[in-house]
Amino acid sequence: MATAIITGSARGIGAAIALRLASDGYDIALNDIAESCFENNDIEEKIKAQGVQCRRYIADVSKHDACEALVKSVKADFGSIDVLVNNAGITRDGLLARMSEENYDLVVAVNQKSVFNMTKFAGSVMMKQRSGKIINLASVAGLYGNPGQMNYSATKAAIIGMTKTTAKELGSRGITCNAVAPGFINTAMTDALPAELKEAMIKQIAMRRCGEVEEIAGVVSFLASKDASYVTGQVIEISGGLSM
Ligand code: NAP
Repeated sequence: MATAIITGSARGIGAAIALRLASDGYDIALNDIAESCFENNDIEEKIKAQGVQCRRYIADVSKHDACEALVKSVKADFGSIDVLVNNAGITRDGLLARMSEENYDLVVAVNQKSVFNMTKFAGSVMMKQRSGKIINLASVAGLYGNPGQMNYSATKAAIIGMTKTTAKELGSRGITCNAVAPGFINTAMTDALPAELKEAMIKQIAMRRCGEVEEIAGVVSFLASKDASYVTGQVIEISGGLSM
């Protein structure tokens, strides 16, 4: 059985991706930063109900050593790592003049360095296997910028460069690496936005609505599938037509 690891998968888009990949037949390695993330949460049971194996791993993916240990544990428990979804991400928004150095560095560590950490260690397992699929969560903020998100948009633009570099470095070993760039998706991250801002954003979307987490999971499922075997280094925008 093939195994998928999804970072930051206790809730939101990561949990939806984990559930979708479970329904595709993957054994699932869930990850989040603290055991408390899984409290009052039935994601593990829902995944097991698909008839696959599921384990959860607590690790802060911004930490290099923690990612090395995480990958080692998943490989030991499941035997292979076939899909890596670099999903964990945070926001610490604020206008540039008021953004603290601490909030800049934290977002870079969690959103961007985590992708380096996990791709390095899981990529090494995949290189030995001569196969693997890596899917990174970028954002429309990384493609077009967004006021108040100097830190976040920097990390999401970086992820696009990292995706293409990974695709070029690992392609000859049978490994693909692609990114998805969601627009405004209904999750805790977007719930935090003021209602007026949300209304103004929706007016700019061709489909005049926010996306649902399952609409991201479906595209990730495609990129992890055999149907995407010759797709690599690409960024697929999933934004309901935010920008054309
Ligand atoms: P979310 O609901 O906040 O979920 C993110 C998960 O990552 C949370 O469970 C969070 O744990 C976990 N996490 C945070 N820091 C971590 C760390 N250091 N190590 C391991 N796990 C960590 O966010 P989401 O909306 O589902 O977003 C998922 C991804 O999609 C992110 O990369 C985000 O940037 C991207 N994205 C989202 C949208 C959107 O509209 N929602 C749009 C574009 C891109 P805690 O519960 O402890 O915070």
